[in-house]
Amino acid sequence: MLYQDLVKVYQALESTSSRLEMTDILARFFRSTDCAHIKPIVYMTQGGIVPDFYPEKLGMADKLYLRTLLAATGAKETMVRELWDREGDPGTVTEKVFETKRQTTLFSEPLTLDRVYDALLRVARLEGSGSQESKVRCLADILHDAKPVEARYIARIVTGRMRLGVASQTVIDSLALAFATKAEKGAVERAFNVTSDLGLVAEVLCLKGIDGLNDIHVMVGNPIRAMLAERLPSPEEILEKMGGRAMFEYKYDGLRVQAHIDNGKITLYSRRLEDLTSQFPDVVKSLGEAFTGRTAIVEGECVPVDINTGEMLPFQEVSHRRGRKHGLTAAIEEYPVRLQLFDCLYLEGEDLTMLPLPDRRTALTRCIVITENVRLSEARVLDDPAKVQEFFTEALNAGCEGLMAKSINDDSVYRAGSRGYLWIKYKKEYRSEMNDTVDLVVVGAFHGRGRRGGVYGALLMATYNPDEDRFETVSKLGSGFDDATLALLPEKLNKFRTPTRHSMVESKMEADVWFEPSLVLEVLGAELSVSPIHTCAHDRIRDGAGLAIRFPRFTGTFRDDKRPRDATTSQEVLDMYNKQLKRVEG
Ligand code: AMP
Repeated sequence: MLYQDLVKVYQALESTSSRLEMTDILARFFRSTDCAHIKPIVYMTQGGIVPDFYPEKLGMADKLYLRTLLAATGAKETMVRELWDREGDPGTVTEKVFETKRQTTLFSEPLTLDRVYDALLRVARLEGSGSQESKVRCLADILHDAKPVEARYIARIVTGRMRLGVASQTVIDSLALAFATKAEKGAVERAFNVTSDLGLVAEVLCLKGIDGLNDIHVMVGNPIRAMLAERLPSPEEILEKMGGRAMFEYKYDGLRVQAHIDNGKITLYSRRLEDLTSQFPDVVKSLGEAFTGRTAIVEGECVPVDINTGEMLPFQEVSHRRGRKHGLTAAIEEYPVRLQLFDCLYLEGEDLTMLPLPDRRTALTRCIVITENVRLSEARVLDDPAKVQEFFTEALNAGCEGLMAKSINDDSVYRAGSRGYLWIKYKKEYRSEMNDTVDLVVVGAFHGRGRRGGVYGALLMATYNPDEDRFETVSKLGSGFDDATLALLPEKLNKFRTPTRHSMVESKMEADVWFEPSLVLEVLGAELSVSPIHTCAHDRIRDGAGLAIRFPRFTGTFRDDKRPRDATTSQEVLDMYNKQLKRVEG
């Protein structure tokens, strides 16, 4: 297959912002694709080359890519740099350079998909001394044979900025449209949620059709997409929703970890499905000691503890350990963590995700012996709101964020990758309608004035709308930043800058600077109000208006553990608004 066939699809995808149209374009392409190629196509369309949880990462540094571009085209450095500063997007720059400057070769061969894919894989895998030169050579080799428009997408994918706006949900919808019926979409979703590998799901569908998905199960080594919780503001409402009785657990303020154990080999994944194993060798060791079986997938929260008092510390302490390559031993001593396990999704060859929670909890107690650093989440089955409130206070006193209520009914399965009322969070902020934290995505910024001249004065913040796969503005955030953070923001945000509003951002406001939705900040809001200038939950309360968070303050926490699509949803804000309203009226 020729790479240009895929590039034509990219161009078609870029020419529309309608998700339905994107779905159609992809479905048609999937149907006509040879099954041997569908896996790389799925990865590449989403800007990768392998499933997210694999170690291979593209994202070549701009400087190195520039060198490659110069080597491949022989263009003048000053001209390329000028273009780069003006355009900001490596794809556009590359295409323009190619159009004007490419060394003419008489015998350039048309690029095949395999050749491009293999080269990208090689670039991602090369490491160690001399690897930079090899990367330049490897990439220059395919660029040499690329047409300008092909080069545009090679540049984007290799620098980690594909940005076609094709979310996993769009690929799932397209696969269902191409290979299944509407009613069977759930099966496609489930196959993805338990394997986190859309390429694999696509390949099985292409080769064997929908029945082939029956062979896809939870696997040790493939992280399962995390089950998420809804929120409610009172024990009464939670108990009513759960049918009068539920299991309540401490809601730890730490880092979610999914551990895959395979005959002594342990791999740890974050909620974003990143491999955390090398950052937490202490957790690997203590889990190895506490686990009594052979194979399992268990889930829990990694909580920082004070070694002197044994008390839990705030989440920020464990975040000091994330991303560390150097000084890990010192960090482990300084910021020790404890694993509080709360679920068991797989044990000794058996997929437990379809079992009710009490059975999974029993499995957990069977395969784990409690140690100093590995424990089970503090849990109680309760049916009385007063008792729940008591347990909640106990959790807060122990340094937790609140409680997680979990259904123990027969249908209390593990719903991978979805948010629902089988789990409900009850956090301390929700007790007061004026004191709620939300996790919002930065989509734009406004230049500062006066004392803030030269830095950003405020950020345009958005919630996520999963139905539309769009980010909807909800607030202009200017408080809660200290000078050091303000100075740091441009550096943190620059790499996400886009020349115009990103296609996934819905905004009526014109920001001075736009960003690809990436950075998630924790924000404390004081009040919610109907607002004609924001797009969060637009038209849901009043026609032509959305919701705004008033008096927002940055809490100081960058939610680096959350992807933009893990941010607070527009629906959550709408629910908060409705609840707040009820209480004000009542
Ligand atoms: P939130 O990040 O506010 O949406 O809350 C959900 C997160 O709470 C999960 O992703 C876990 O990281 C965390 N958590 C803490 N304790 C528990 C628990 N006992 N059960 C499930 N999740 C928990």
